[in-house]
Amino acid sequence: MLEDKNPQKTSLAELGEFGLIRHITKFFKIHQPSTLKGVGDDAAVLDSSDKQTLVTTDLLIEGVHFDLSYMPLKHLGYKAIIVNLSDVYAMNGEAEQVTVSIAVSNRFSLEAIEELYAGIQLACNTYKVDLIGGDTTSSTKGILISVTAIGTAEKDKVVYRNGAKETDLIVVSGDLGAAYLGLQVLEREKQVFQVDPNNQPDLENYTYLIERQLKPEARKDVAGILKELDVKPTSMIDISDGLSSELFHICTQSKVGCKIYEDKLPLDPQVISACEEFELDSTMVALSGGEDYELLFTVPISDFDKIKANPNFSIIGHITAENQGLQLITRANQEIELKAQGWNGLKED
Ligand SMILES: [Mg+2]
Repeated sequence: MLEDKNPQKTSLAELGEFGLIRHITKFFKIHQPSTLKGVGDDAAVLDSSDKQTLVTTDLLIEGVHFDLSYMPLKHLGYKAIIVNLSDVYAMNGEAEQVTVSIAVSNRFSLEAIEELYAGIQLACNTYKVDLIGGDTTSSTKGILISVTAIGTAEKDKVVYRNGAKETDLIVVSGDLGAAYLGLQVLEREKQVFQVDPNNQPDLENYTYLIERQLKPEARKDVAGILKELDVKPTSMIDISDGLSSELFHICTQSKVGCKIYEDKLPLDPQVISACEEFELDSTMVALSGGEDYELLFTVPISDFDKIKANPNFSIIGHITAENQGLQLITRANQEIELKAQGWNGLKED
């Protein structure tokens, strides 16, 4: 699908490791006052003054977490940053710095690495975070990317997974399931391409789905919206593995149960039409799809009026007692026990 239009390639060996690091970091700007020293010394120096520091890491491996036959390297770089920032925002914090380490095989040229870093740089500029370090090394096969994001939050602002209380409302930002369906569309086109490389895919009906898969965004805006509404979530998590899996994390850690309502799950019209086409149940896709990078949080029921009319949020249910378990109320008003069927990188298929 992604043919190579530029056969002129520079091998990484020509530059050497330090030449490569200088080359790929020279256009990065510093955005945060807390970054006292970024790339260029033995260690970065940060000053988060009296705030609490948030640290989160993700490791992405070719063939396990992404497929370069439909994931352009620039998008991969962008997404690798986004998935980490999302975890900082899920703590109600502000992301300020990232480190990026990569291992690449000799099948990658300098131009390929430049593409990857163009995506990393775009994410850093968009979200105003500083690249402050990392490592580059060789791998025997494929590409591996490890990103660490560092953020801060004022002491009384950090939101954990374990604070949900009975009767709290369960709220989700944005809509669910699109990233998973985007992956289904891309996988299907890959199969078609393998059979007939001249086939030009018509992806017009799936633009939103593909964008959600290839160029996801993190909900940096939610903390500000909640602050403006004067709402502090009692618990929060980002939706990386699917709604049910994240609900399990919140309920287990908060020692509560929950009830969510099928007819309240926010779905984009493209999700509904693609589910019909792929013969998938849209509720299952919303519950188990994953990679939406929306935020799932709970708020006291007294905040109902502040949340209910906000177009960024959907109230999908409420927290119950622990012994009630996790329940989905269907459109037919049936109670179904939720299963943590989210995507899990360690799960065997
Ligand atoms: Mg997370």
